[in-house]
Amino acid sequence: MMKGFDFLVVGAGIFGITTAIELRKRGHEVAVLNPDQIPHPLAASTDISKIVRMEYGTDREYMDMAAACMPVWRDWNDFFGETLFHEVGFVLLSAASLDDPSGGFEAASYRSLLEKGFRPERMDPMQIAGRFPAFDTSAYADGFYHAVGGFAESGRVVEALTGYARQLGVSVFERQTAEKLVVVNGRLRAVETREGERFGTGHAVVCAGNHTPYLVPDLMPVMKVTGHPVFHLKPSRPELFAHPGFAVFAADISNTGWYGFSLHPKAGVVKIANHGEGLELHPDRDERVVYPSDEAHLRRFLRASIPALADDPIVYTRRCCYTDTLDGHFWIDNHPEIGGLTIGSGGSGHGFKMGPVIGDMIATTAEGGVHRWSERYRWRELKTGVAQQEEARFKLK
Ligand SMILES: Cc1cc2nc3c(=O)[nH]c(=O)nc-3n(C[C@H](O)[C@H](O)[C@H](O)COP(=O)(O)OP(=O)(O)OC[C@H]3O[C@@H](n4cnc5c(N)ncnc54)[C@H](O)[C@@H]3O)c2cc1C
Repeated sequence: MMKGFDFLVVGAGIFGITTAIELRKRGHEVAVLNPDQIPHPLAASTDISKIVRMEYGTDREYMDMAAACMPVWRDWNDFFGETLFHEVGFVLLSAASLDDPSGGFEAASYRSLLEKGFRPERMDPMQIAGRFPAFDTSAYADGFYHAVGGFAESGRVVEALTGYARQLGVSVFERQTAEKLVVVNGRLRAVETREGERFGTGHAVVCAGNHTPYLVPDLMPVMKVTGHPVFHLKPSRPELFAHPGFAVFAADISNTGWYGFSLHPKAGVVKIANHGEGLELHPDRDERVVYPSDEAHLRRFLRASIPALADDPIVYTRRCCYTDTLDGHFWIDNHPEIGGLTIGSGGSGHGFKMGPVIGDMIATTAEGGVHRWSERYRWRELKTGVAQQEEARFKLK
């Protein structure tokens, strides 16, 4: 049996690795387990880019959390000596006027930013097309550009944080897959792995992304895995997509799901994806296929909104999986019946940007404390049919 750790973190995506760092900084003996290598190719956190935005409609708590993350994202660039957070700004195209009382995601986000003292630049479709000429704005009535925000090179971030965790003295175990949580008299005692190891610990923190409900079956009724298509396109006119002539964007996202990124400075591609319902699947058994119908859907969107990209080659696709809670809010709490067991998961397609605060939230909870943003992510009863509440998410009516 491996020596006992105060905390054993299961999973080294953004939730797990930031938690391990936070617990280590608080003086605990910490280990992290992860299958194969870190960053894991199938982890949700592993990609060339993830949006870092403050725009959350009327939801002030997520906006405040994201606002608290921004300075840390900037600091991490200095700390790691590499630009991992590209603050290219965020442009939101709206099918409705931002003055429209029925609002919608863009109008609510714009108002929330102004009320918090931020300075988003409102633009009419002509101005958007003038500033970002790759867009055909005829389908949009209004929009705004917010210079705060952009994208993080998510896989590289997890890699850099894992290196930092090692430096701090976290024991990082790759090629170790948690298979069994050993509970004795209602208390977690150890974690056994598929590779035949047994890790003794006083406390396990399960941050296993898509596999969390499989390791903690009590979560099955409230958590599901959904797969979402991601496309990397090689632009024939890259100059049109380079910052500042292009930015991270959302195109009437709550009604279409479409969002994308400026030209990736290292990969030389434009990533476009859809923040919609996705396809429910099993993380190991089901194939993560991007279907011709997904590509046809993408091409229709591009033809209408970004014609310069509509016929460009797709050089990479992936169906990447959210760990969806039924209400779309994260799941951060101690298990109600098993002592020494904490859950940090449920990113629901929008957790990566919160990396700078998520570790603090999970570590505080694991230590039995209360974080200013704990309440909403507590263990909760969710009935099937409860609506997804993350306001940017495109939900089929
Ligand atoms: C297509 C897509 C686009 C997204 N876009 C954005 C975005 O633009 N902005 C944003 O903020 N968020 C975005 N997200 C959401 C974000 O990626 C996730 O919320 C976040 O990365 C979740 O991190 P995690 O650490 O919980 O899970 P993961 O990153 O999946 O990490 C879980 C880790 O646990 C490991 N693991 C699994 N099983 C075991 C086991 N049995 N034992 C040990 N380890 C195990 C895995 O190998 C993995 O390394 C997106 C997600 C997807 C899928």
